[in-house]
Formats: sequence, C-alpha cells, structure tokens
Amino acid sequence: MVENCVFCKIIKGEIPVEKIYENDSFFSFPDANPVVEGHTLVIPKKHFKTILDMPATLGPELLDCIKKTAIKLMKKYKSDGFNLANNNFPSAGQIVHHVHFHIMPRKEKDGRILHLDKKK
Ligand code: AMP
Repeated sequence: MVENCVFCKIIKGEIPVEKIYENDSFFSFPDANPVVEGHTLVIPKKHFKTILDMPATLGPELLDCIKKTAIKLMKKYKSDGFNLANNNFPSAGQIVHHVHFHIMPRKEKDGRILHLDKKK
C-alpha cells in the first residue's frame, strides 16, 4: 500500500466505492468521471505503478476480473460491446500511478467510437 495513492485508499476502504467484482488480487469499481455510461476500472489490490511492474503470474486473475466485470456491465447497461484501455506513464495519459484498466461498455451506433489517432 502506498500512502496518498487514491486507488490504495479505495482498496483499504478509506474511499467508499461501489464494488462491481473482486477476486483475490483484483477489484473493479465505477470510474468517477465516466466517458460512457458504465465506465469501470479494474485495479490490482497491491500497488504497482504500471503494467510493467505487475508480475505475469497475475495474468489469469487479471483476465478473470476483466471478463467478469465486462459481462456484468454488458448485462446491466444492455451493451453489445466494450472497449478495454490501459494507460502507462504520463506520456500515454496515465494520471493515477496505480496500474488500472478502463472498461467502457459500448452499444451499436452509440456514436462513441474510440479512434486511435493515426498520423497521415
Ligand atoms: P488514467 O488517465 O488512465 O490514469 O485514468 C485515471 C482514472 O481514474 C480517471 O478516469 C479518473 O476519473 C479515475 N479516478 C480518479 N480518482 C477516482 C476515484 N476516487 N474513484 C473513481 N475513479 C477515479
């Protein structure tokens, strides 16, 4: 646990959030500033700054948490797809330095297609 880390505080229960899903090593909860309805974050219970700091042995539990969370969200928001995003380091847009995975439920023709900028 890292002092002054907002996601460590969520894991410790110091900041109350709605639990979407959890397993032994990961936890998911709604993003405070959703870019689409149901925007949710998956975080490890232990503090790792980026995905590069996470041991590969956590892979199966990470995938379990992402899949179970996404299935719940798709049912709840009647969505038929979702985007999964993970920003690493400030240059890539990482603001909270406790690794996290964004799940953003999507609907056919919701007009919110996320494009990766492609330089011509
Ligand atoms: P990133 O730019 O990938 O680091 O995204 C960090 C995300 O954390 C943003 O989408 C924020 O809205 C979200 N966030 C920051 N603090 C909280 C909080 N206390 N509860 C829920 N989401 C948060």
